[in-house]
Amino acid sequence: MKKWKCSVCNYIHEGEEPPEKCPVCGANKDKFIEVTENNLELGNTTKVEAPMDKSSSMVEKITALIVEKHLHPITVHGPNGIIPMAVLFLVIAIFFQLPLFESAAYFSMIFVLLNMPPVLLSGYLTWQKKYNGVRTSLFKMKIAASCVATVILFGLILWKIVQPDVLSNASLDRFIYLFWAMVMFAAIGVAGHLGGQLVFANKK
Ligand SMILES: [Zn+2]
Repeated sequence: MKKWKCSVCNYIHEGEEPPEKCPVCGANKDKFIEVTENNLELGNTTKVEAPMDKSSSMVEKITALIVEKHLHPITVHGPNGIIPMAVLFLVIAIFFQLPLFESAAYFSMIFVLLNMPPVLLSGYLTWQKKYNGVRTSLFKMKIAASCVATVILFGLILWKIVQPDVLSNASLDRFIYLFWAMVMFAAIGVAGHLGGQLVFANKK
C-alpha cells in the first residue's frame, strides 16, 4: 500500500492513488507527495525552517518565531475558553435577572476582544508561513468564522455601551442580544474545530 502526504497539512493518506481532495484541509490531489522509505525523513524535515540569515527582515523573524512557538494555538485558548463561559453567564443573567452575571459576561467579552488582535494576527501569519496561504475551503471557512465572531463580539460590546440596560429592560432586545451571542459562540466553535483538524491532521 502506498502512502501519500498532503504537503499543505501533513495529512497521510494510504492507498494506490492520492485522494481527489485532502479530507483535512481540502487541498487538491496535486498537493500530495508519495511517501517512500527514502523520502520519509526528508519529508519530515522540509517543515523545519532554515536558520535565519542576517538579511531577513524583522517581520520575517517575528513571523518565524510566532509559528515556531505555536503562538496561534496558545492565544486561541482565550476566545475558545472564555466565550462559552460568557454566553452561559448571559443566559443566566437574562433568565434569572442576575446583574452580577451580566457584568461577568460583559467584562469577559471585553477581555476576549482585547485578545483578538494577537489571535487573528498569529493565525494569519501561521497560515501564510506554515500553509503558504493556500486558499482551500478549510482556510476560507476558518477565516470567515473568525471574522464573523470578532465582528459580532465587537457589536455586542458596543450595543451594551450604547444601551446599558439591554439585558434587563422590559423589551425583548435581550433575546436578540442572546441570539447574536449564540451565533458568535457557533462561529468560535467552527473556527476552533477546523483548527483542531489541522493540528491533528497527521496524528491518528
Ligand atoms: Zn491537507
